[in-house]
This record gives sequence, structure tokens and C-alpha cells, in this order.
Amino acid sequence: MPRFRQILDTMTAYKPGKAVAAPDGRSYKLSSNESPYDPLPSVVEAIAEGARQVNRYPDPGAVELTEAIAERFGVPAEHIALGAGSVTVAQQLFETVGEPGAEVVYAWRSFEAYPLLADLAGVKSVTVPLAGEDHDLDAMAEAINDRTRMVLVCNPNNPTSTAIRRAELEAFLDRVPEDVLVVLDEAYREYVRDEDVPDGLTLYGDRPNVAVLRTFSKAYGLAGLRVGYVIAPEPVATAVRKTIVPFAVNHLAQIAAIASLKAEDELQERVERVVKERTRVREALIAQGWTVPPTEANFVWLRLGERTPDFAAACAVEGVAVRPFGVEGARVSIGSPEANDAFLAAAGRFRR
Ligand SMILES: *Cc1c(COP(=O)(O)O)cnc(C)c1O
Repeated sequence: MPRFRQILDTMTAYKPGKAVAAPDGRSYKLSSNESPYDPLPSVVEAIAEGARQVNRYPDPGAVELTEAIAERFGVPAEHIALGAGSVTVAQQLFETVGEPGAEVVYAWRSFEAYPLLADLAGVKSVTVPLAGEDHDLDAMAEAINDRTRMVLVCNPNNPTSTAIRRAELEAFLDRVPEDVLVVLDEAYREYVRDEDVPDGLTLYGDRPNVAVLRTFSKAYGLAGLRVGYVIAPEPVATAVRKTIVPFAVNHLAQIAAIASLKAEDELQERVERVVKERTRVREALIAQGWTVPPTEANFVWLRLGERTPDFAAACAVEGVAVRPFGVEGARVSIGSPEANDAFLAAAGRFRR
């Protein structure tokens, strides 16, 4: 047998959200924080048109998409690096800073890809327990040492849904040495409504070590095509661009992302509907007697402890797939009104 890396035996595999079906066939997938809407007709049309060119390699520099993102956010194109989904961009970030002996600091529980990416990069994970459902930024600042190369801050946090406010985040950034990269993972930025929660793009400009990670997978509804990006000071973005596997962002993904930026108003309307549903779902859960942390994302979090597996099973019987995390809690995406009603009915029955 070939000799494999030892880490492959000990690292935990990424568990994707599953779909389930009730005995009557009803199936609501609220386990992956996807957009509940079908792709926009204009986006489907762009993809269909792009399909005619797939005998050719994609543009390796994704020039047109990069320029569209630069224009959309008012940042220089040199500050942008793309990847095949923001998880892959995160992996590239690990590759820009990681080497044996290096450490990365992040909260736990947070996005479950982080430990996996750290293990793959051969970087040591230093996890800092959440304070309640929130990042403990003081403890995270204290966890930084000479070996620390990167800090990941997921804002709002997946899966606990809470967000860090400006004053607290700025105070934290002021404490991080400039040779430590801080990645603000803003996969759910479009769903944030609390005005005190800063847009990372307002923080990175005058700081050489802050990078903002964004994705087309959630609010833009392109999870299946895999395209994400980082916006960061030019030296950081340049380093990330060096780590991309040639042609990683495929032609259809580039075309669909460009079409989505053009259709931003329509997509924003959809985001607004999800935000309204989020309020409805959270209030209904609270009325049922659940404790539900405030959410700035397209999901809610229930800290169920030991009851987590039973809760997920009870939802599954009714065709509702949620995302259980061990015996910690369950994350439930906001879906269509019908899916949300099915979830609320299941949650209500479980409480009784
Ligand atoms: C969903 C998610 C991503 C995005 O993943 P893609 O690879 O862009 O689909 C990144 N970070 C967090 C915290 C997420 O929840």
C-alpha cells in the first residue's frame, strides 16, 4: 500500500446536509442554508448560453467576473481573488499562510469546514469555545501567539447565527498583530439587518491583515456551481491568487455569477423575503417555548443538547431535514413558507 498522510486517519470528514422524506413523500431540505428559490430565469439563460462554450477552458483569471465584483463593491480588481466556492478560497488562504508548526485560531463551534481545512493544510487548530452562542473575541485575542498565522471569524457565525458588532470587532482587530491574517467569513452578509454589525469591506481598507470572504452560494443561489471570493489588501489577494489550482472556477460558474450580479435587485427581494420568514420562524419558535438566539443569517439555532438527535429524527419523520451537530444543537435553514410551516409544526409537536 502507498503510505498515506497520518492525518487522514484522524481528521473528521465533512458531513453534508442530507435530504429526508416523510412517509407521504413530503421533503423539505433545511439542512444546508441554501436559497429556497429556483435560479432566476436570466441566470439559467446565461448558463444555457455558456454551455455552448464548454469545449474551451474557462478564463483562468476570471477577468470579467473579477471586474464585475470590483465594480459592485467599489474595490480595486487587484484586491479580489476567486475560488471554486468560498470553502475553496478558505483552503487557499490556509495554503498562503500554513506550514508545519503554524497555528490557526477560530471559535468553536463554528463552520465545520475549518478543522478539516486546517488538518489538510497541516496547520494546528486552536479552538476557542463560544461564550454562549457568541464569539469570545477576548479569549481569541489571548489565544494568538508567535505561531499563529491566521484567525478565522465567522460573522454571523455558522451554526449559532449570532453576529459580532462593530465596536467589539474593531477592538479585536486592534489587538491582532499585523502579521496575523484575520479572515472575516461573511458567507451570510446579505442577510444581516442589524446596522451595528459591520460590513467587513468597511474594515479591511486600512488594515493590511484583514480579508473578507464572500460567496455566491447562499443569497445569490449558486451553491451548485461553486464560486466564492476574498476581498483583501493587494498583497493578500495576490498571495491567494497564487494558490489557485488552474481553471478552478469553471466557465458556467463565472457566467452565472456575472448574471447574478446583474440581477442583484431581484435577488435582494428574495433575500428580503427570507429575512421576513426568519423573523416569523424565530417568533413562532419563541412562542412555542424555545430559546432561539438572535439570527443575522438564513438559519436559526436551537441548543438542544442531548435531545439533538431525537429532534432531528422527529423532524425527519415529517420530511424536514435539519442539521444536527452531535449533542450540541440543531441548525435549521429558513426555507419557503411551506417548508418553514412544516418545520414549525414538527418543532411544536416535539415540545409537547
Ligand atoms: C456556506 C458557507 C460558506 C460557503 O461555502 P461555499 O464554498 O461558498 O459554498 C462559507 N463559510 C461559511 C461559514 C458557510 O456557512
